[in-house]
Amino acid sequence: LVSMRGIVKRFGDNVVLDGVDLDVFPGEVVVLIGPSGAGKSTLLRCINGLERISEGTITIDGDELTYAEGTINRIRSRIGMVFQSFNLFPHMTVASNIMMAQRDVLGRSAKEARSRALELLDRVGLVDKADAYPESLSGGQQQRVAIARALAMDPAVMLFDEPTSALDPELVGEVLHVMRELATAGMTMVVVTHEMRFARRAADRVVLMADRQIVEQGTPKEVLEHPSSERGQAFLRQLS
Ligand code: ATP
Ligand code: MG
Repeated sequence: LVSMRGIVKRFGDNVVLDGVDLDVFPGEVVVLIGPSGAGKSTLLRCINGLERISEGTITIDGDELTYAEGTINRIRSRIGMVFQSFNLFPHMTVASNIMMAQRDVLGRSAKEARSRALELLDRVGLVDKADAYPESLSGGQQQRVAIARALAMDPAVMLFDEPTSALDPELVGEVLHVMRELATAGMTMVVVTHEMRFARRAADRVVLMADRQIVEQGTPKEVLEHPSSERGQAFLRQLS
């Protein structure tokens, strides 16, 4: 579904991704781990065109990512992204937050958009909060709304960049639970996280990045229990 070949990303003279090849297959859950500064966020941002790659090619569902306006908008509308900070619009209700892009980007009617919003809120366990404002919700609830908002676009793939790292520890579980359900339901996902339990239970494949490259990938068991690379072993030692 996502295919990246020979990706190089530079910021000025600083090479941040140096020849990354990555494929994500339909229905697959790929968990991306690695030390700070490895380039994990940059890689995700390249997938949905928030960052422009310096070299290489990215195709999403057979559609090559060029930076022509039409293409990038089409591709972005097929990719849901959830960040560490939830970025809900504070002056809009929860339901309106989830309806906005459906109406603006997909041209759905208010009725259609609201019905889809309620359906998704039900899925993340927050249907009773539809008409509440974000500030009245906990961080974990806000993040679940952010997930529902991304899902409302019917994305082909969901990208998560440390979705639980801004949350109080007691709120992490509810967000991971929603993500695990999505994974079980067959959503294609790329998740950057430090939650190794999530990686172990939900990932089809764990990809370890370090020093601007993918240094190791495989099943959670292979990568997390028996890393073959020096770099992988060092990273996992420092986690435990
Ligand atoms: P973390 O675990 O801390 O989130 P990461 O693996 O997500 O780290 P990135 O945020 O992708 O790492 O950053 C990789 C490198 O790219 C870092 O050295 C960072 O300083 C650099 N970088 C990221 N964004 C920019 C930018 N907009 N301009 C210049 N350099 C950047
Ligand atoms: Mg990051």
